[in-house]
Amino acid sequence: MQIIEGIYQLLTPFPQFTIEDAKALRRDLEEHPRVTKGLPYVLPYLLKAGGDTVLVDCGWNTDSAYQALEEGMREHGSHPTEINKLVVTHVHPDHYGMAGRLKRLSSCEVVLHEKDAEVINTRYFAPKGLTDEMGKFMETNGVPPLQTPEMSQGSMGMLDKVSPVPADTEVKGGETFKVGDFDFEIIWTPGHSPGHICLYEPNRKILMTGDHVLPTITPNVSIHTQTHGSPLGDYMRSLEKLVDLDVKYVLPAHEFPIKDLKKRLREIEGHHDQRLEEMMRCVDAGGSTAWEVAGRVEWATGRLADFEPWMQRAAVGETLAHLEYLFELGRLAKVMRGTTLYWLAV
Ligand SMILES: [Zn+2]
Ligand SMILES: [Zn+2]
Repeated sequence: MQIIEGIYQLLTPFPQFTIEDAKALRRDLEEHPRVTKGLPYVLPYLLKAGGDTVLVDCGWNTDSAYQALEEGMREHGSHPTEINKLVVTHVHPDHYGMAGRLKRLSSCEVVLHEKDAEVINTRYFAPKGLTDEMGKFMETNGVPPLQTPEMSQGSMGMLDKVSPVPADTEVKGGETFKVGDFDFEIIWTPGHSPGHICLYEPNRKILMTGDHVLPTITPNVSIHTQTHGSPLGDYMRSLEKLVDLDVKYVLPAHEFPIKDLKKRLREIEGHHDQRLEEMMRCVDAGGSTAWEVAGRVEWATGRLADFEPWMQRAAVGETLAHLEYLFELGRLAKVMRGTTLYWLAV
């Protein structure tokens, strides 16, 4: 789909969706926004101008996602072998998964933020240590020992759908690159991922938001073994970075284009503010673990005890991100009792 001349929105399906179903949902969701069972698709962007062929994000490394990408590029007179540069907004498998395959086909330059580039090895090339670390991490956060092995295995099943490759260029944010006469600026927006980036073209007022800002979904902001500091604090500050941008086309990597960016930024902030208050209410006077708090807060998808193990892990990670931010704000303290971490109001 053409956004403007030279900028095209492509679509690659998630593994559990066919190309046709994903395309039908893309058309339908914009008119009837609703929660779907799992994300149906990723929206890579093709930038084609002045002899350059740049792709922003790709999709899972499945044959159907590749096929969809190839068809999409062909519609706009291009082909994956012609890609000179692949800019990945963040290292999650739905955005980065096909990077290695595209690199082999086209020898493209793979661009990632340094904070995400640094986890490629432990996450995708040698993930065994990560599972052990995750088990310890879960126990520290109060997860009953019987449940940790299953929860630690959570993400291993997706590794066969990722074709990893090291970054050729690691950015920090603030860099610019040209595609024909488009001037893209890289904006570092940590939170959803430590090295998440958005791309901004000030002349045509185009902003590509990756997963940082989506029209109806609030992206998962989570603490896990590879996170440092306060990702939710980072995320809230990263939302502010976009507030004053002059934008006309706001292009996320899922769902559909965002009409009113400022309004959406405020909605997301409001959502997290409410969530922070809810978490505060779920902390016992004598202290609670993240697992206990996660069991008390309301989840849109049901009760924690009924979740699949990987969903429980995500819920604990999301709870921790809020608790850590409350700690950063001076509203909670944390204390180790034995090998277990407790949070308490100050
Ligand atoms: Zn993501
Ligand atoms: Zn995503």
